Amino acid sequence: MLLRNNSLIEKIIEKLKNLLYQSKILFLYSRIPFNIKYLFLNAKTPKSINLSLSVRCQAQCIYCPKDRGSRIFPKDMSFQTAKIIIDQQKNKNYKGRWLISENGDPFLNNEWYKITKYLRDAFAENELIIFTNMGLVNINVAEKILSLRPKAIIFNMDGATADTYEYVKKGLDFIEVKNNIINFIKLRNSINSECRIIVYIISAYRYLKTFKKDTSGFIDDTEDIVSILKPYIKSGDNIVRKCTIGLWHLRESLNLRKDNICSQIIRILCELFVAPNGAVYPCCSMYNADIDIGNINYEKIDQIWHGKKREKFLKHLFNKNYSEIGKPCSICVY
Ligand code: SF4
Repeated sequence: MLLRNNSLIEKIIEKLKNLLYQSKILFLYSRIPFNIKYLFLNAKTPKSINLSLSVRCQAQCIYCPKDRGSRIFPKDMSFQTAKIIIDQQKNKNYKGRWLISENGDPFLNNEWYKITKYLRDAFAENELIIFTNMGLVNINVAEKILSLRPKAIIFNMDGATADTYEYVKKGLDFIEVKNNIINFIKLRNSINSECRIIVYIISAYRYLKTFKKDTSGFIDDTEDIVSILKPYIKSGDNIVRKCTIGLWHLRESLNLRKDNICSQIIRILCELFVAPNGAVYPCCSMYNADIDIGNINYEKIDQIWHGKKREKFLKHLFNKNYSEIGKPCSICVY
């Protein structure tokens, strides 16, 4: 009876926590002492684990920080490192979401399929989301991706012609990527895969208008991009025409002193990120794993999640002590 009551209480507490995350009530009660917030708001385990299979990216997007991943070595996550996390989480019966990849294109990692297949075999039912620039997603890669039953694939398509696309993505070939995208969606449709397609658009025009005030003669081709995709997309897919262009790529040059509450706190209470070298960091804006809260080569995810380093980081974050945390939080634009 007592056991049953305990599990009922645990369920109620979990429900309350979920409500708190969703309603962002945290902000309304920002005067509550940190220890109480931490006790109630910190998830028991992460709800989302982001594996950075590679910090390399061939796209060289105009809106991406130039030093992204430059201080992380090795550049690609080994199978052995990925296996440590996957095995640990399997033993913990992890029910959360897996995101592949973070901070680079996963398909530049020669072991991407071995790693992701191992993950999918270990977690048959968990949500799996893949981020890519689509540069390497030829038909063979597309077949492999779809065999892993991802819930969604997320990519940007930032131009409707070679001129506009390659202005934004200097390292990719428009025709090749366009074919990859269309062939992927056609294959997805033909096998009735449940993989959703989520496309973000940042046109050259919009980028230039936002940051340079001079559009260099480009016209906004957002609707032309939509027209290319429209014949293939299905209900449930999503084309995000006006996605926010992150100011983060300019933060070093802006060097603003942050004093507002971190807008990502809710996510940070649920997610963690693992760099190719096993370093665990709490926020995707830390693209050089600048603030590492542990390393899965030496500690278990559970120990890191409930560990002193993460708790101290959260305390400073909640209290807006950004100078104590240092960069990138001290100059963060979010
Ligand atoms: S870098 Fe720091 S301040 Fe910026 S979003 Fe991430 S945790 Fe928040």
